[in-house]
Parts: sequence; structure tokens; C-alpha cells
Amino acid sequence: MSASTSSLRPDVVVVGAGLIGMTSALKLQQEGLRVLVVDRDDPGKGASFGNAGYLATELIEPLSTPETLRKAPTLLLDPHGPLALPPRYLPRLLPWLTRFAMAARKPSVNTGRQALAALNSQALIAWQRCLNGIGAEDELIASGYLMVWENERTLEKARYHQDKLGKYGIRTDLLDADAVQAQDSGLSRHIHHALLFPNAHQVSDPYRVVQRLVEAFQSAGGEIVRESVEKISATHEGVEVRASQRRIEANRVLIATGAWSSRLAEQLGLKMPLESESGHHLTIADRVDALRQPVGSAERNVVMAPLKSGLRIVGFSELGGLALKPNSKRSRTLKHHASALLSDTTGIEQASDWMGFRPTLPDSLPVIGQHPRHSQVQFAFGHQHLGLTQAAITAELVADQLMNRTPTINLTPFRPERFTSA
Ligand SMILES: Cc1cc2nc3c(=O)[nH]c(=O)nc-3n(C[C@H](O)[C@H](O)[C@H](O)COP(=O)(O)OP(=O)(O)OC[C@H]3O[C@@H](n4cnc5c(N)ncnc54)[C@H](O)[C@@H]3O)c2cc1C
Repeated sequence: MSASTSSLRPDVVVVGAGLIGMTSALKLQQEGLRVLVVDRDDPGKGASFGNAGYLATELIEPLSTPETLRKAPTLLLDPHGPLALPPRYLPRLLPWLTRFAMAARKPSVNTGRQALAALNSQALIAWQRCLNGIGAEDELIASGYLMVWENERTLEKARYHQDKLGKYGIRTDLLDADAVQAQDSGLSRHIHHALLFPNAHQVSDPYRVVQRLVEAFQSAGGEIVRESVEKISATHEGVEVRASQRRIEANRVLIATGAWSSRLAEQLGLKMPLESESGHHLTIADRVDALRQPVGSAERNVVMAPLKSGLRIVGFSELGGLALKPNSKRSRTLKHHASALLSDTTGIEQASDWMGFRPTLPDSLPVIGQHPRHSQVQFAFGHQHLGLTQAAITAELVADQLMNRTPTINLTPFRPERFTSA
């Protein structure tokens, strides 16, 4: 990491070196632009560090639907449930929750589904282009994915889900208990049925992917500065980025600071209802081969994935703001679920734990686009549970906009001003 910026004025300053910032920085550099990345931490140490590494392209349903709202009270009351709303944060959360509830209306759900399907349909190919372009294709694995159910009475739910996905061209195979064991003996015999997604992909390890992006960016002359960005202003000539130790003038800026993006957007006159959904993970370092592919439990709302760093179990969504601290209760719940889902529970008690903040807007869509009044300011944040999945396609769309090309996907649903014009 560099301690001093070169004297050349950057074409673009990318603020945030998570998956979104780093895929974008690399893509913009490949377009021939001089790119400077600024992050207050080492690259990839935000939400991008600890995700499940799964390209969840089948998740095209917005988070807010009538079904989510119906189920929420039960999930909140379940001691092992996936959802938490700390009461002290509720007054601050209320405006976001109201917008979230409004987003469950049919037209919003339809718009959201179409927009997510458009992004996700291009997600894999964009990752292939990104990783092949830097000789890191080995980080992408055609792993397949298993969605499992333990309760035999949910067989109809699995069939319904299969039909629904089929309408979007997503192929799944319904497996009975024996077929599940044949597919993956790392799973408990209590699994009654599953949907196998044979065409699904994962990455080797999300943090490792960020490191590969950083290596490629730096070896092509890109510079990364470790400083906190305090203020961004649009100027006549471009932008001024005030970081803790320096003032950077550039032609453009890309704000890709994940769950921390709304403060910087607000300085530029755009109020965005961005909230953080904190999630936890456990990683069992010496159980790298515990499963053949990522496995999601539809009933327990957890995902387990075999990564280079170990077997990772992720879950939880706690809407408690960015001051929230890791909670050992959440880790115990993940251990409880993993113990029920795995055939061999070795190492669960010794697993390392982690917490990260997913950036989530009430309509479940990221913000990808230019500031309506300052075209030199670009945004890419708010990718909720899908930031790894959508990082490479987001980077391509950002580059399309900055290079004045027509984006390959209609960006209207992702425009930054959609919350002010609503
Ligand atoms: C438990 C869990 C599991 C997940 N599993 C998956 C999965 O399997 N598949 C998937 O697609 N997605 C998954 N996600 C979601 C995904 O991890 C996120 O959507 C994604 O990492 C967001 O990337 P980002 O680059 O926007 O944010 P981040 O990775 O959080 O990066 C933001 C960066 O901005 C920096 N920053 C913030 N403010 C400033 C400032 N003022 N100045 C300088 N730097 C600043 C931070 O230091 C950070 O490095 C999961 C998330 C969690 C929490």
C-alpha cells in the first residue's frame, strides 16, 4: 500500500476498496483511466471479507415482499431465528422500515425482481471476464449449490420454488434424502430433500478475490491509499476529496463505501435511506473439505460454504445500525444450525467468528449511477446480500457510464435520485 499519492491528477478516485470498489477500480484502470483508490482500512476488510463466497444469481426476489412481512414476527420471536431488530435502534430505523414495508407492494416487487434478474443474469459472465482478464480464473469455481429442507412437509414448497425458478430459466433438480447423501455425504441424514442448482458458482474465498484484484490493480500501476475520506465536494473542474491526511483533486469520484455510503452522499445533497444489515460468520479453518459445494438451509436461513480459508457458515440479519458490536449469541445460533446440518460436527466449537455490515436500501436494489446534478460523482453501493454476486457486473456498468457508453443493462431502477423523486 502506498503512503503518498503521485503528483499526477487522477482521472477517478474510487472511495472504498471492498469488492465493489476494487472490481470498479480495476475495470476503470483497464479502460485506460488513472485511478486512485482510498480506503480507511486494508482492502477487503469490510463486508467483502467475510461473506459466503457464493454467487447467488438465483436470488432475484427483493427482500421486501408480502411473504417477508407476514413471516417477520415469527422470525423475530424465534430464539434461533435469522432476524433481529434491537429495540433501542427502532426509532432511527422506523423511516427505513416504512419504506421497506411500502416496497412490498406488487408493482415495486415486480420492478425489483426484474432489476435484480437483469443484474444477476450478467453476474457470472462479468466475473469470468474480470477474473480471466487478470489470470485469476482459478478463483471462480463451478461448484453447484444445494438448497436443503429437513421437514418432509416442505416438499411442496421445494416443488413450488423449483417451478418459480424455472420460469426465470434457472435449472434445479429435486433430490430425495438418498440423492442428497449421494451428492454430499458431509450433510446430516436429517436432510429430507433438496434442490440442486447444477450451474451455480462460488469463489475460492471472497477475501482472496479482493487480494487478487488488488495485486492486479497495483501491478498495473494503480495506487491505493489508506486514509479515511471525510468530505467530497463537486467543483467546477471535477471533485475535491478530503481524506484524513490529504486533499485530492480529481476529474471524478466513485463512492463505493458499502454500508457507510450515505454520509458521503448526503454531503453531495442526496439523502439515501441506506441501512446496514449485520451478518455473522463462523469459519472452521481445518474443515476445508467438509462439503462439496455451498449449501443453504431454506428453513434455518443459513448458508455453509467450503472456502480456501475453511468451512464457512453465515447467517443473520440484524438491523441495528453501524455501531453494533459482534454478539456471541449470534455465533452460538450459527453453531446450533451447523451442528444440525452437518454429518460431522468436528471443529464447530473452535470456529472463528466475525461480523460484517451488508448495505441495504429499502427496495433491495443497489445504487448504480451518476449524481443527478454532478455527473462527475458516481455511486455504486447498496448491494445487500448480493455484493459479491453483483460486483463484477456493477464494475462494468460503472465503466459504461464513465466512458459515456450505453450501459448493457437499463440503469433506471438503480438511479441514485430514486428516493428523492418518489
Ligand atoms: C455474513 C455475510 C454473508 C454474505 N454472503 C454473501 C454471498 O455469499 N454472496 C454475495 O453475493 N454477497 C454476500 N454478502 C454480501 C456482500 O458481502 C456485500 O454486499 C459486499 O461485500 C458489499 O461490498 P462493498 O464493496 O459495497 O462493501 P464493503 O466490502 O463493506 O467495502 C466498503 C469499504 O469502504 C470503506 N470505507 C467506508 N467508509 C469510508 C470512508 N469514509 N473513507 C474511506 N474508506 C471507507 C470500508 O473500509 C470498506 O473497505 C454477505 C454479507 C455478509 C455480511
